[in-house]
Amino acid sequence: MRVNLPVTNDHGFFEFRLESIGGLGANLCGKILGELGALYLGLNSSNFASYGSEKRGTPVKSFVRYCDPEKVIRINSPVEKPHVLGIFHERLAGKIPVMAGVDEQTMVVINTNDDPDYVRDHLKMHAGTLACIDALQIALEENTRINMVMLGAIAKVAGFIPLDVLEEAVRNTIGKKYPAALKGNLAGVKRGYEELSLTKYDNDGKYPYREYEEVKRDWGYANAPIGGVNTVPGSTASNDLTASREGYVPLFHVEKCINCGLCDTTCPDMVYQFVEGEYRGKPSMVNKGPDYHHCKGCLRCVEVCPTAALTAELERDHDIWNIHVRNKDLIVESMEFEDTGANSIVNTESGN
Ligand code: SF4
Ligand code: SF4
Repeated sequence: MRVNLPVTNDHGFFEFRLESIGGLGANLCGKILGELGALYLGLNSSNFASYGSEKRGTPVKSFVRYCDPEKVIRINSPVEKPHVLGIFHERLAGKIPVMAGVDEQTMVVINTNDDPDYVRDHLKMHAGTLACIDALQIALEENTRINMVMLGAIAKVAGFIPLDVLEEAVRNTIGKKYPAALKGNLAGVKRGYEELSLTKYDNDGKYPYREYEEVKRDWGYANAPIGGVNTVPGSTASNDLTASREGYVPLFHVEKCINCGLCDTTCPDMVYQFVEGEYRGKPSMVNKGPDYHHCKGCLRCVEVCPTAALTAELERDHDIWNIHVRNKDLIVESMEFEDTGANSIVNTESGN
């Protein structure tokens, strides 16, 4: 088939930008959109991504360009003014400038269960159409992942991608690689395509237009200490991983904890807070529970806990910022931490 692009920029391109955090599958979503354009929609297309370390929790951007087959795509610069912007986690807003280049013509698809007016204010959205989809809830219900639901929603708002063609592309790509997950993936794509709610916002002067700028990390090759070695053992103390979670967190039941430390040695992000205290009447290091600021939701700690003192729970069902988290007021304001770090004995200086 050959589709007609409804709108293009001065270079003749229709452009997507996907904003995400490593682990949510935005890169795969961009790859499928790229293949879709060239192999199923009769267009020329390109896809590329920008990310740092491939560890979960780092910012990821994926870019997709389409153009008519009579034209060629010779640039691979970031998409600065997207026609469609996909935001894979609402918590990304405010951490990195995800709304750059958004104006009246932009369709913004965001994974959220909040009210559109609230989301618009949260994003400080200048203008454009806001498409809200509860991708997390749908993914949980259909046993798929957020990126499949977002893929369906992004394809829908583009306005020229038929659902059956998208489904065929999914079948022929990830369906071949992960056949057991195909049913859930297709259900997620379909619901993303069909369950969007759209709200249009004109430029009412409430929030200014933002120009695109490259995201720079605080530490790079030029200023990382001792040739790139992080001397602060609690290296994730400056790393907010909340946007990496896909619905679940470990919930700590302190009354069942025997302070064995298995969760602490298993957790890849040094989330557990062990402090000097008393256990069974004797001085001991005791577990104060997870600092959810750093938790990416992998649930390895839940698997290893021998006493069920950790259980996997839906984050939405619990007010995690008010239980078992230390320094919660400092987390947002100043990034100062105490008593975090490797096995939680070291006082970190991270974030300074
Ligand atoms: S789920 Fe558990 S192991 Fe995984 S990052 Fe969070 S605290 Fe660490
Ligand atoms: S693994 Fe379970 S019992 Fe052991 S310290 Fe961690 S929470 Fe407590």
